[in-house]
Amino acid sequence: ARRVFSGVQPTGDLHLGNYLGAVKRFVEMQNNDWETIYCIVDLHAITVSWPGREGMTAATRELAAAFLACGMDPEKSVLFNQSQVPAHTQLAWIFSCVARLGWMNRMTQFKDKAGKNAERSSLGLYAYPALQAADILVYHATHVPVGEDQRQHIELTRDIATKFNLDFGAENFFPLPEPMIEGVATRVMSLRDGSKKMSKSDPSDQSRINLTDDADTIAKKIRKAKTDPEPLSETLEGLEERPEALNLVRIYAALAETTPEQVMAEHGGASFSTFKPALADLAVAKLAHIGEEMRRYLADPAEIDRVLGKGAEKAAAIADPILARTYDIIGYVGSR
Ligand code: ATP
Ligand code: MG
Repeated sequence: ARRVFSGVQPTGDLHLGNYLGAVKRFVEMQNNDWETIYCIVDLHAITVSWPGREGMTAATRELAAAFLACGMDPEKSVLFNQSQVPAHTQLAWIFSCVARLGWMNRMTQFKDKAGKNAERSSLGLYAYPALQAADILVYHATHVPVGEDQRQHIELTRDIATKFNLDFGAENFFPLPEPMIEGVATRVMSLRDGSKKMSKSDPSDQSRINLTDDADTIAKKIRKAKTDPEPLSETLEGLEERPEALNLVRIYAALAETTPEQVMAEHGGASFSTFKPALADLAVAKLAHIGEEMRRYLADPAEIDRVLGKGAEKAAAIADPILARTYDIIGYVGSR
């Protein structure tokens, strides 16, 4: 059996990296007859800061609207928000007793997000990968489509599954999920800094293209994207030391559903004053309608809440029996 799970945090507008690295692929898998479970991970979303009560609610509905606008179908995929399914948190506690401090200390996302002030970070930000492992394993998911930045967390998930199975004498109980990090846009870089990934939490809005940006904004951000002054090289190899230029070529390839080699065959040698407008036209053609669709869904928040509620029931129906078996394996009284 193959079952897909993935999550996105409601921490701000979805951007091009989330779309190409994750959500676009979620929809492709849904339409390719995989069993797909997609979660708005609202528990993860307060590990760094709380956007306020209204802000939390709005961010969750906006992300649901974005999923739907990108083609997610709640009849085909289980779509819900994490806090409605308590089994995630319950399994996360067990996993925080399985994961070792040494493992957690190696997580680069914690280091990136905590910055210089690790002492002032929340315990939740540190424990985040244990909750993420629970998100995946509470469904016995076998495949996890994510961007490159999540590879380390999926490896940790496999380590936790292995150690649980071994320590609790439950051979093969938790499957070892496969990360699916595929395509040419698994790590879309910031438009302002070719060494940083595009992120929701980057303070500069110019660093990313949001799915809610209108056509003018998309075009302007691409025009202003940082590049070096040289025109594109003739071949892809020539871009190796030019991260900003390579990023734009990869974005073009992903949006056009072709390869970077093909993009270079067409645009190699072009100046950015030619290539950027071509990329902007392509981006507007592929993205601008998503924002419009989102606004249509957001006009009816009660319907979004209903979809998430129904999805949560379906999710719990899968997760609860797996949690119950976990409790039984541990030997908790009342679990059998
Ligand atoms: P935050 O800055 O709050 O962590 P984020 O932009 O990293 O936000 P997440 O919700 O953490 O977004 O990640 C959702 C999915 O998008 C994950 O699968 C992640 O790997 C993927 N993703 C995030 N950023 C990029 C990127 N720049 N390129 C490709 N995929 C990405
Ligand atoms: Mg992230």
